[in-house]
Amino acid sequence: MTGSAQRPLLFLDVDGPLIPFGAAPDRYPSFATGSHSPGDEANPLLTRIDPAHGPRLLALPCDVVWATTWMAEANDCIAPRIGLPRLAVVLWPEPSAVDDQDERHGLHWKTRTLVDWAAGRPFAWVDDELTDTDRAWVAAHHPGPALLHRVDPRLGLTDGDYAALDSWLRRQIRVPGR
Ligand SMILES: [Mg+2]
Repeated sequence: MTGSAQRPLLFLDVDGPLIPFGAAPDRYPSFATGSHSPGDEANPLLTRIDPAHGPRLLALPCDVVWATTWMAEANDCIAPRIGLPRLAVVLWPEPSAVDDQDERHGLHWKTRTLVDWAAGRPFAWVDDELTDTDRAWVAAHHPGPALLHRVDPRLGLTDGDYAALDSWLRRQIRVPGR
């Protein structure tokens, strides 16, 4: 197995981790790019994304994967703003009866799909909607290590979040398969 095959995945949500919300609107600085960017008119909240997130995400020892309802638009509208290359994108299945059942049990609608996508590979999942129900389900159904890291959507990804992610991801690389 090659070294890169051992790199953990990082499933990244957008609304909450990259686009903070829920505090008073004028709390958020605006990071206009200076020139027109795709999606600006349709998504004025894009200006809330701090471009510093791009280099910080790239510095993490992992393969970042979009895990968001933005799907392909994350590569079109967000990646170029913050200096990220085009990344792999999780595509969500059509809603089914299983989702209704999961919702009643408090399982996030993304959880099953992300565990399938990881296929046993270590992963961190960064999202503002995670709960202990998701942690328990992942622990029972995912054979590899996983870190479900909840971000406060009012703040977005903070220094503390990056430090926690970096530390956990590095441990996965040092001890592959544990
Ligand atoms: Mg979110």
